[in-house]
Amino acid sequence: MSDASAPPGPPAEPSAAHSIREFEHGYEEEQRLRGFRSACGFVTATWGLRCPRCGRRDLTEFALSGKGTVAAYTVQNVPSDEFVNDAPYAYVLVDLDEGGRLSGWMPSVRAVGDLSIGDRVRWVPSYKPGVQFERDPTPASAPKA
Ligand SMILES: [Zn+2]
Repeated sequence: MSDASAPPGPPAEPSAAHSIREFEHGYEEEQRLRGFRSACGFVTATWGLRCPRCGRRDLTEFALSGKGTVAAYTVQNVPSDEFVNDAPYAYVLVDLDEGGRLSGWMPSVRAVGDLSIGDRVRWVPSYKPGVQFERDPTPASAPKA
């Protein structure tokens, strides 16, 4: 049999510079956070093969500082098994200085009122799962371009 008459398949996706497994383990094992910038200016901290805004495939990977501002948070009193010895703690949504948002957790925040929207935080490399943040006492870097 010949498959010369077979219809052409979808175009192959480009090979990413990294796998999602590498990305997920980057902050846990390699002690680094990665961001992705599109030519259109869109920045995300979420792994992907395409820009969700313009659809381009040539995302540029760069190292995130891990610094940002609290956009939202809640206090977890009923944690998953991995965090059972850490509760209560804050589950935070952080607007990163470079752009993009990242969710993580803050073991230093034990009650509503310990943290405010707009507070400065920074990533802390940790052996624990997830992205851990702590208060950042240093002033904010230059505003986003
Ligand atoms: Zn784009």
